[in-house]
Amino acid sequence: MSRFWNPAIEELSPYVPGEQPKQQDLIKLNTNEMPVGPSPRVLAALCDASDESLRLYPDPENSALRQAYAAQAGLEPCQVFVGNGSDEVLAHTFKALFQPSAPLLFPDITYSFYPVYSRFFRLECEVMALDENFCVVLDEYRRPNGGIIFPNPNAPTGIFTPLDDIAALLRGNRDTVVVVDEAYIDFGGQSAVSLIAEFPNLLVIQTLSKSRALAGLRVGVAFGHEALIEGLNRVKNSFNSYPLGQLAEAGAVAALADEEWFRNNCNTVIRNREKLCGQLQGQGFEVLPSAANFLFVRHPRHAADQLYQALRKRGILVRHFRQPRIENFLRITIGTAQQCEALVTTLEEIIVPAA
Ligand SMILES: *Cc1c(COP(=O)(O)O)cnc(C)c1O
Repeated sequence: MSRFWNPAIEELSPYVPGEQPKQQDLIKLNTNEMPVGPSPRVLAALCDASDESLRLYPDPENSALRQAYAAQAGLEPCQVFVGNGSDEVLAHTFKALFQPSAPLLFPDITYSFYPVYSRFFRLECEVMALDENFCVVLDEYRRPNGGIIFPNPNAPTGIFTPLDDIAALLRGNRDTVVVVDEAYIDFGGQSAVSLIAEFPNLLVIQTLSKSRALAGLRVGVAFGHEALIEGLNRVKNSFNSYPLGQLAEAGAVAALADEEWFRNNCNTVIRNREKLCGQLQGQGFEVLPSAANFLFVRHPRHAADQLYQALRKRGILVRHFRQPRIENFLRITIGTAQQCEALVTTLEEIIVPAA
């Protein structure tokens, strides 16, 4: 608190991201990054784009990248918006597309940036409880609202909500914007992009941070009806004309072009996830069904904060949320096969066999 601050920032409660440890030898399974580097074609494109043209401002419309995304999604470039990570795309969405006249609806257990943005943009919100199996119950979202947002698969549970449920929600909710945050869609879910033609109030947000192994590049995207994209552009152009630089755009275009790298690496994550799921269940963990690149688990005989500490002491970093309903869960990012093995072996030392 300082007398130099605008008083309004005193009431903000900023998002706290997962730790990025300085210690290099930790096995890092806490922020859902890919365990391998991006496509070599991305690195080559970044080198190629590093030339004297960096003296110029980049294309403010990021036309090349929007074109590439449009082609891949089967949409027009006017139905694509790109930003500096999907977090920035989300921020613009909160500002541009949610109505202050009724509460914004999102799950009680979800991506913790949603309540942060709600406060920042002074939007009233109503949290909707997940059911006893930690599923999003979209039936209950059919009530007066200023907008609806949820991740699919949900974070940090990993549970996927079927597209039929989303279509049913959209059929009954035509007057406000429904945002599906698909940060983890490439690990086994089905994208709602296919519903955009039918529902002009649907916005689908994705990112290169997870499935393309490019969290450090900061590229996110939104797909939706042209009018929604225009709204996002109005906010973006009132804030920063150039959120994506020349390097980010070149890297992103190259990433989208390498379909083979993408398929192979997503499939590896899925394979490692299914194996790890079975091994953790063998150790007595309850594992929520995941369609993401992480598992959300709890153990009937071990408190999550103690498991978190014990793993950390042994060089493995996972995520623990001190939050009602989930304080006894750990979120574990799917690492390489070797990292998953190391996790299982280390847990064997920690977990006391049932008497
Ligand atoms: C990781 C994540 C994001 C943010 O991704 P960036 O594109 O890196 O900003 C958005 N939503 C959810 C649910 C996420 O888990």
